[in-house]
Amino acid sequence: MTFLSSKEKEVTNDLSAKVMERIRKEDILPTPENYELWYVYYARSVPEVVRVVDAIVESGQVITDYVCSTLYNRFLSDLRNEETVRNTGAQVQSTIQSVSDVVQGVQRATKDYGKTLSAVNTKIGTAKSQGELQEVVKFASQSTETMMVQSNQLEQMLQQSNAAMEELRRDLEHVRREAMTDGLTGLANRKSFDSEFDRIFQDAEKSNQGFTLLMLDIDHFKSFNDNFGHQVGDQVLRLVARTLKDSIKGKDFAARYGGEEFAIILPDTDLAGAVIVGNALRKAVASKDVINRSTGKVLGRITMSVGVAEYGGDKTVEDLIERADGALYAAKHNGRNQVSTAPPFHNK
Ligand code: GH3
Ligand code: MG
Ligand code: MG
Repeated sequence: MTFLSSKEKEVTNDLSAKVMERIRKEDILPTPENYELWYVYYARSVPEVVRVVDAIVESGQVITDYVCSTLYNRFLSDLRNEETVRNTGAQVQSTIQSVSDVVQGVQRATKDYGKTLSAVNTKIGTAKSQGELQEVVKFASQSTETMMVQSNQLEQMLQQSNAAMEELRRDLEHVRREAMTDGLTGLANRKSFDSEFDRIFQDAEKSNQGFTLLMLDIDHFKSFNDNFGHQVGDQVLRLVARTLKDSIKGKDFAARYGGEEFAIILPDTDLAGAVIVGNALRKAVASKDVINRSTGKVLGRITMSVGVAEYGGDKTVEDLIERADGALYAAKHNGRNQVSTAPPFHNK
């Protein structure tokens, strides 16, 4: 909880008013993300956001929810992750520090306790009376009690820090997963695709295990967007993503490659097998009605074009992507809603 001075409150109120006014003016949704984006803009706290928003306005482009969500994903969601990682690091450090303080305290106390015990030992040997002996025993049991309290404290502390570390580990895992996931569709994102693709490509170079790459692109998506709006467009992207996810299995890997383009890697699959998968995916997508959520009205169906290329000694990952892209282009050119294959790799 932070407390603001009256001057700071005034600035914050002023910023909030500007943000709400802008959200109304642009006719975008008052979501937390949009609020945060415009707050950052007016507070000028992230210079890139100010620069890019100004450039968009300057170019006369309309500010839509889609534009805002692109900006948010590009500039703010990563910042938030960075902050979590930074905070987590600081928390781990302070947890380790306090555990090590307690351990040192206990080490010191153990040493003292050892000295106490040997003193007690000597005193017992030299005690001259029943009374003196009783005193020594009382002293020894008090020291033992103190020692027990301290080791209990240590145990509790270790338990607490274990729990705290576990929580931090989960936070970091969450951030890591988020950084690899496309926010809109929940599929693996481009970053995740790039690293998975690199890994599989390198494996294929080392072994003689082949694989195929599918590039899939929604047909005439722009007109779907233009006719029904970006929100429906987003819904279509989620529908396609879900269909792809439900239709692949095992080691197959699907990602949102960018915009309305998806990529799928099929390990241990040859060109003929990949064409079968590509057609199955294409048909699964084409069989689903896109429905307007609020009216229940069927808006239509969408199709996809698919380009398939089989790894065949391609020199670089780009070679293979280029070939799959070429096949996708051919599928579009030949009338869309179909699968095309790339010819085998040839050394240029
Ligand atoms: P083609 O059949 O040749 O692929 O035509 P197309 O209209 O699908 O292709 P084009 O590349 O012309 O248009 C792609 C459109 O996808 C443009 C862009 O507005 C839209 N788009 C990209 N990403 C998103 C997104 O995240 N949400 C929404 N709603 N639209 C998006
Ligand atoms: Mg398209
Ligand atoms: Mg495209």
